[in-house]
Amino acid sequence: MAERKPVIITAEQLAEQRRYIEEIRSLPQRPRSYFVVTYGCQMNAHDSETIAGMLQEMGMAEAPDREHADFVIFNTCCVRDNAERRALGNVTWLKEVRKQNPNLIIAVCGCMIQQPGMAEKILKQYKFIDLAFGTTNLYKLPELLCRKLNEDRAVVVVEDKDTIAENLPMKRLRKDFAYITIMYGCDNFCSYCIVPYVRGRERSREMDAILAEARQLKESGVKEIMLLGQNVNSYGKGLEGDVTFAGLLRKLEEIGIPRIRFMTSHPKDLSDELIEVMRTSKCILPQFHLPVQAGNDDILQQMNRHYSREKYLNRVRALREAVPGIGLTTDIIVGFPGETEEQFQDTMSLVKEVGYDSAFTFIYSPRTGTKAAAMLDQIPDDVATDRIQRLIALQDQCQKEAMSRFVGMEEEVLVEGLSRRSKTAVSGKGRHGVSITLPGSEKDIGEIVRVRVTEIKNNTLMAERIEERK
Ligand code: SF4
Repeated sequence: MAERKPVIITAEQLAEQRRYIEEIRSLPQRPRSYFVVTYGCQMNAHDSETIAGMLQEMGMAEAPDREHADFVIFNTCCVRDNAERRALGNVTWLKEVRKQNPNLIIAVCGCMIQQPGMAEKILKQYKFIDLAFGTTNLYKLPELLCRKLNEDRAVVVVEDKDTIAENLPMKRLRKDFAYITIMYGCDNFCSYCIVPYVRGRERSREMDAILAEARQLKESGVKEIMLLGQNVNSYGKGLEGDVTFAGLLRKLEEIGIPRIRFMTSHPKDLSDELIEVMRTSKCILPQFHLPVQAGNDDILQQMNRHYSREKYLNRVRALREAVPGIGLTTDIIVGFPGETEEQFQDTMSLVKEVGYDSAFTFIYSPRTGTKAAAMLDQIPDDVATDRIQRLIALQDQCQKEAMSRFVGMEEEVLVEGLSRRSKTAVSGKGRHGVSITLPGSEKDIGEIVRVRVTEIKNNTLMAERIEERK
């Protein structure tokens, strides 16, 4: 596929959007409250923080739920068919809410809108949607909403550009933890995946912009950052000079944020340099999400993954040698076109061999426009369902075994909130990425607490506080 240059949104273009924000604030009939509904991955969750930031600048306050908002926006995902159907079902349900609030504005954005033909479909079949825009138009939300308010007709805009917009407003969900997007899009074209078509070609943010954002977060008291990208390992492609993901991590480490995580990584781009940075770093947490997708070489080749089972296992071994006890997680697809029982058994044996802390398991979902959707030999639903059930049962068992290594171990937990099961307990993530529950109260939220893991209860690690015993 031909190279495409990213389109950097200029300061003038952003200033223009600020003028639209001011115009909206001056309109007597503007929406006063908003609600953002987010589907999909962390990238989408982070985009929703930007959407919320822009809406607040337009003078809107967050509503407690979608029934009480003047402006409801669905930030959609289309990676799986059921996510798309769920989003469209919920958008349609909002038509009823409009009967109570005739001024309600319904907006839809995200990956789903970026699919070929979706803009036309919305204009024809979903006429009650007021505003729709794709992933690359996010920075234009003020302009598009202003048009909707002034013209009182549906505004649907989808552009086929690979944009990077810096310095957009943002309402972060947490004070102690923050996402930083380091790159957008993907060039890998795995045969089942729609991401390269809806998120555009791979493009990296300038390192200086990322470092400036991290410094600002450190000053505001953030204790953990998660670096985001469809394939963070290939960060730097297209930037000037010898810029690598490992190099970015080294620079980020100097800033002094105590905890750094990242996702997602492609096994083919997991370099020795990155493993070395993880081995020597105190801030980069001992956790790695390494999607394997399948354990059989022929299926991996059909998936266009560019690694073999053995190469993947080599990377796992290298990570474990460098960072003993590292928390490994993965994504797995079952029922890929043509997958035989024998090939599925290769996935099962790989899961046993690696012993992941957790695995996101999916039944293959054909996505129009991808290579795999056109493959003959699609697997019947009942076969795929039976396979995923067996895989989940196996992973449950492997997870229990993997979790047992934590019992008796010291950990540090960044407390996220009160435990759902007890009023005198809190929970959060340990350094290895596993959820841990410990005694505590509201005042611990946002703090890093040292603990010792005592037992595993209902798949959760339970711990005692170390300081209290001194
Ligand atoms: S690496 Fe493959 S699965 Fe991941 S986003 Fe890119 S194309 Fe999709």
